[in-house]
Amino acid sequence: MKSQEIRQKFLNFFAERGHLIVPSAPIVLKDDPTLMFNNSGMAQFKEYFLGNATPKSNRIADTQKCLRVSGKHNDLEEVGIDTYHHTMFEMLGNWSFGDYFKKEAINWAWELLTEVYKIPKDILYVTVFEGSEEENVPFDQEAYDIWSTLIDKDRILMGNKKDNFWEMGEQGPCGPCSEIHVDIRSAEEKAKKNGKELVNADHPQVVEIWNNVFMEFNRKADGSLEKLPAQHVDTGMGFERLCMVLQGVQSNYDTDVFSPLITKVSELTGGKYTVKAKNEEEEKINIAIRVIVDHVRAVAFAIADGQLPSNNGAGYVIRRILRRAIRYAFTFLNKKEPFIYELVDVLSTQMGAFFPEITSQRELVKNVIKEEEASFLRTLEQGLHLLDNVIKQTEGKVVSGVKAFELYDTFGFPIDLTALILREKGYELDEAGFEAAMLEQKTRSRAASEVSTDDWTILIDGNVEQFVGYDQLENEVKITRYRKI
Ligand code: ATP
Ligand code: MG
Ligand code: MG
Ligand code: MG
Repeated sequence: MKSQEIRQKFLNFFAERGHLIVPSAPIVLKDDPTLMFNNSGMAQFKEYFLGNATPKSNRIADTQKCLRVSGKHNDLEEVGIDTYHHTMFEMLGNWSFGDYFKKEAINWAWELLTEVYKIPKDILYVTVFEGSEEENVPFDQEAYDIWSTLIDKDRILMGNKKDNFWEMGEQGPCGPCSEIHVDIRSAEEKAKKNGKELVNADHPQVVEIWNNVFMEFNRKADGSLEKLPAQHVDTGMGFERLCMVLQGVQSNYDTDVFSPLITKVSELTGGKYTVKAKNEEEEKINIAIRVIVDHVRAVAFAIADGQLPSNNGAGYVIRRILRRAIRYAFTFLNKKEPFIYELVDVLSTQMGAFFPEITSQRELVKNVIKEEEASFLRTLEQGLHLLDNVIKQTEGKVVSGVKAFELYDTFGFPIDLTALILREKGYELDEAGFEAAMLEQKTRSRAASEVSTDDWTILIDGNVEQFVGYDQLENEVKITRYRKI
């Protein structure tokens, strides 16, 4: 089954059950001070759950473009390394706003997966919330009883508060979740280890596909729970993971969502993607290719939704994602010219029918990406040249951490790239010296004015924006702007 058909079947299934199908909200949020990007299907419906707005229908379904690169949900570091977390992904979802509850939601989820998509029941596991005395929340007996009518009890697992209890904040709507996981390992692997032990354990072939959240309670200021007057359902299923299961492959990247992009990257860079990497070399190239095909989607859709790369806020996050892709191509595929922009045509052919913005904005998206690539590649080339000079001035085999920090700080030359190049040339980096220089710079920045919002901390030293430096950690969503005199 092709991905287009998989998406459509989901929407049809819920339309037939009285759901209004709505378009995805934009990936970038312009008017929510607590959130920079849409990171789940429910974000656009938040006001309904809080009772501040009334939905057009009390049953809605859609596919939502999500981006998980900041705040509470930040998967960036995993992306490319693993095969099932993306920066941008589609979350298929169905909602009940004070209408149906657990019985319908669970029965429909099961019917869709096992009868429409025909996933064998014996590769599925479900989890229900086990309850927590400490937090004063009960075991979800109701969900357990409903599941017991559908699936072997042995496959109903207890889930903890972290995985199986959702809350909007310290106060407000909350409730238990019931998740569906799939075990697509080979029979041989299954014989070695029971799938139960691998649920929620970061195994690439035992993955969570669908989360069903039951908004049942309201947490009051004193921490106690009361039943909500109207109860809601909020579900989210990872589209690319579902495609992996239905297309009988072992990685999201082997589905038709990604394979046309991978083919194009190979054509443009000569890097060959291997379904099962046999050695470290092949795995490095695989990771680079996965990073590129994942990141181009995030960047292209963000630009199509109106967020250009820039030096601050959401634009800076987008710039960093694109630079991460360029860096992987530069380092592991030896690609020194812009090429990522050429993937946008593939994306448009593949996704334009459902997301017309990627086609209508295609030329803009391509131009912006191309310009960003050219500019960052110049930075990288310049950095390489400077690094050569540093090496020439080095006596012995250990390169000064302070000098490496200067390259990073002044020219945005990534430190991992410095370390890699030095290693290749038979030199070592004085890492302690680098860390010390970094710490000193951070202390200086911290003394400067600080603006903080929920997801973000922006440090501004003076008000002249001459250069935006990299943060040391990719996953630390902190932006350091400083003035270089
Ligand atoms: P995981 O435990 O795998 O990180 P999650 O529990 O964080 O997933 P939810 O917040 O429950 O995910 O989101 C609902 C669904 O969205 C998940 O069941 C999964 O299928 C999908 N999903 C979540 N994060 C990602 C991601 N980064 N890339 C692709 N799909 C994702
Ligand atoms: Mg997660
Ligand atoms: Mg999870
Ligand atoms: Mg989950």
